[in-house]
Amino acid sequence: MKRRDLLKASVLAGTVALLPKVKAQGAFQNTPSLGRRYRNLIVFVYDGFSWEDYAIAQAYARRRLGRTLALERLLARYPSGLINTYSLTSYVTESSAAGNAFSCGVKTVNGGLAVHADGTLLKPFFAAAKEMGKAVGLVTTTTVTHATPASFVISNPDRNAEEKIAEQYLAFGAEVYLGGGDRFFSPEKRKDKKDMCAAFAQAGYGVVRTPEELSRTNATRLLGVFSDSHVPYEVDRRFRGIKVPSLKEMVQAALPRLASHRNGFVLQVEAGRIDHANHLNDPAATLWDTLAADEALELLTAFVDRNPDTLLLLVSDHATGVGALYGAGRSYLESSVGLDLLEGQKASFEHMLRLLGTNPDAGQVKEAYRSLKGVALEDAEAQIVVEAIAKKAFRPDGVRYGIQPSNTLSWAMVQRNPSKPDRPNIGWSSGQHTASPVVLALYGQGLRYLNLGLMDNTHVFRLMGEALGIRYRNPVMSEEEALEILKARPVGMRHPEDIWA
Ligand SMILES: [Zn+2]
Repeated sequence: MKRRDLLKASVLAGTVALLPKVKAQGAFQNTPSLGRRYRNLIVFVYDGFSWEDYAIAQAYARRRLGRTLALERLLARYPSGLINTYSLTSYVTESSAAGNAFSCGVKTVNGGLAVHADGTLLKPFFAAAKEMGKAVGLVTTTTVTHATPASFVISNPDRNAEEKIAEQYLAFGAEVYLGGGDRFFSPEKRKDKKDMCAAFAQAGYGVVRTPEELSRTNATRLLGVFSDSHVPYEVDRRFRGIKVPSLKEMVQAALPRLASHRNGFVLQVEAGRIDHANHLNDPAATLWDTLAADEALELLTAFVDRNPDTLLLLVSDHATGVGALYGAGRSYLESSVGLDLLEGQKASFEHMLRLLGTNPDAGQVKEAYRSLKGVALEDAEAQIVVEAIAKKAFRPDGVRYGIQPSNTLSWAMVQRNPSKPDRPNIGWSSGQHTASPVVLALYGQGLRYLNLGLMDNTHVFRLMGEALGIRYRNPVMSEEEALEILKARPVGMRHPEDIWA
């Protein structure tokens, strides 16, 4: 290297060293505005949804279903952009911190709902909308008391305190609560034996538990809990005949009840189990929950067309997994074959594990993969699955994966021949959330921007505020303050398996 080049290199190195350390909170802010107000607001959260999930669903819909995604049409023609997702103290967020960023407009630590690490309460956006006279609805495929919906209406330092959150919902008094989580409402399942279903009924809610009851009820206010825990995956509802309403059917029940309200409404819809499917590294469960979300999206855009005073804001809270369709074969010509093979997958790993029980043999495992995943496992692979289920010996070793059997179930059916897929060629980086920016898109009349650019997730709060003309600020906590508090008293995240959604 010449002396001149050396000098240049050292100057450059010096420049890098002199750059200020950019903190998460102080990051570059792009704050596009809507330019108009709306009467109604629908926030559609795709939980744990990455661009890789988008790419797979888009390709599958085109190749195997002969249609384009409603989401693809929305992204092509309406304002969209990216959001950064980091929480106050981590570049990888979880759903409550992400939900708080949307709902409260400030960064928080992972684990609490509309609350700072020191216990300072934050006002969630739907609480402000309710004060303004808006009807409120929450519709989700997770337990209805789960982090993403809950962070929009109540404060609680522990996102896992779902029995308590059920009581907070009653006090809050939204018009519609639809999702899973009967065990947080039914007296025989709650630890304290309180009958929250009776309490809701007494407060004037129609309480429903089946798709038939949902379609039959005339109640104007609704509590629907359609499963003990989360609503089963779409792939199981569709192909295994499990009797729960689809996300679209729940949205269909919610909309007229909210739209009849004289002051307008706010509704959060959550496709909450895209995240869970990604945690499990289950490509078919991820795909079908994404496609089910798309059917609900189709219905919502049609509602907006008929009710132009409504803004639809679609957003993912973070990526999870991430399961990516990777290139295969010479010139990647075989890539799509692996995608087509998803057609043979007719159940989730969750369903498969239930069928296999706690102590299956290799023959039962091979039969389950053949009939439910369209994959012919080899004996050695089946044995790996047996040991994952019976002995919790997870593969591959290492913190990126080994938190639950499903990750091993997915790993057991990975591609053996990289140039000729005989199994879906979808590779996973982990069974956890990841840090990548995710989608934000808007649908409504009179929107100015086509490219919203890269935003912070807290900007969702400002966009919602502008849409409804609601202005307030929640207190901000610094990263340093939060780290001090966390050092003294760890909050939330009791176990890696709690890091859901
Ligand atoms: Zn999430």
